[in-house]
Amino acid sequence: MFENLTDRLERSFKILKGEGKITEINVAETVKDIRKALIEADVNYKVAKSFTDDIKRKALGMNVLTAVKPGQLMVKLVHDELAALMGGKAEDIDLSGNPSVILIAGLQGSGKTTFSAKLANYLKSKKGKHPMLVAGDVYRPAAIEQLKVLGEQINVPVFTIPDSKDPVSIAKDAIKEAKKNGQDVVIIDTAGRLAIDEEMMKEVESIKKAVSPNEILFVVDSMTGQDAVNTAKEFNDRLDFNGVVLTKLDGDTRGGAALSIRAVVDKPIKFVSTGEKMETLDVFHPDRMADRILGMGDIVSLVEKAQEQYDEEQARKLHKKIVKNQFNFNDFLDQIAQIKKMGNLKDLAGMIPGVGKALKNVDIDDDAFKSIEAIIKSMTPEERENPSLMNGSRRKRIAEGSGTSIVEVNRLLKQFEDMRKLMKMVSGGGAKKFGRMMNQ
Ligand code: GDP
Repeated sequence: MFENLTDRLERSFKILKGEGKITEINVAETVKDIRKALIEADVNYKVAKSFTDDIKRKALGMNVLTAVKPGQLMVKLVHDELAALMGGKAEDIDLSGNPSVILIAGLQGSGKTTFSAKLANYLKSKKGKHPMLVAGDVYRPAAIEQLKVLGEQINVPVFTIPDSKDPVSIAKDAIKEAKKNGQDVVIIDTAGRLAIDEEMMKEVESIKKAVSPNEILFVVDSMTGQDAVNTAKEFNDRLDFNGVVLTKLDGDTRGGAALSIRAVVDKPIKFVSTGEKMETLDVFHPDRMADRILGMGDIVSLVEKAQEQYDEEQARKLHKKIVKNQFNFNDFLDQIAQIKKMGNLKDLAGMIPGVGKALKNVDIDDDAFKSIEAIIKSMTPEERENPSLMNGSRRKRIAEGSGTSIVEVNRLLKQFEDMRKLMKMVSGGGAKKFGRMMNQ
């Protein structure tokens, strides 16, 4: 996420390296370079200009602080200003209604339907809500079908009226139905168009008027850069929405949309979406995003994600198995599934300070586990439970079944055995033994 910008800003800070103090000249040069970096990241020109003007003013005003090196001072200033530019603090959504009504708007392909389902999943699993999804895109049967499939996947009801072409009455009926069934949040997915279109705007406006939503969330594809900002402005002029959802931040986005939207539209980014899976949705934290942009990592989000996935009961069982040396390939598969649930691997790694940059040109994706999973899934249940059964012919069969090679199967088995030994030593009070082994 935003690796190029991170790199460019780091280069800008280098201008001040070795400088003993902040001067008009070195600040002007640094600030000019930061502005260039922002514009290359597709940040709106006016936003970049006023951002760097502020930095310059503040940097010169802080000249008294001689204890801090100019380079460090500049990083801190840019960090705080970036966080402020993106809104300062995280903003919640309004869930006070009964039911609370959330209207989702945006262009076609921006990720509305996917986000609607992710939001339902988030509200259900993290906020203890009972959401209902409403298929309001009456023009594309595929969109209704897509929402139904996602609803089934996350076990959330999807309200539709087959053959109806009237999204206003669908929305009204959905709310009645939700009240009847005790559903406390109604999420209405609306129809988009490929570009701003008068009819689409009128339709969303009339749904807004009919259902008075608690929240209108505008969904936008962050890969579209400045277009995203312009579209946000047009939607906001018509709908006066409450917040923005930035999607596809897992892609090769430069950062312009994330950095400019708040300043141009004056509405907060509330969520960011980083993948197609239901779990890849995050509440937007401007300060954490500023950390990440400056290559400082985002340990807080990483720890939160790990905590969300941590299942105490399962961890206890696992520990018992490890101590008894019963950790098997089924447990291994479970562990991989847990890691994958945390989201995109490269993004996760990027949250560790310094690691994001190191991995910039390394291609890690969710396929990293693919061959391991294929190998384990080609084992029989007995083999998974008892890896010591694995003789030559079994290994050959597994390699063929998984579309891998005997070398890969052998490597996995060896790694698994080594891991098992290590786990047993560490967890079974064998820390001394482990220490001895490591010192050998
Ligand atoms: P809609 O037309 O606005 O409802 O958009 P969809 O929800 O159908 O999304 C369009 C495409 O973008 C689909 O293929 C989604 O799987 C994909 N998509 C949505 N959100 C994300 C995201 O955060 N990251 C990535 N990589 N793909 C996404």
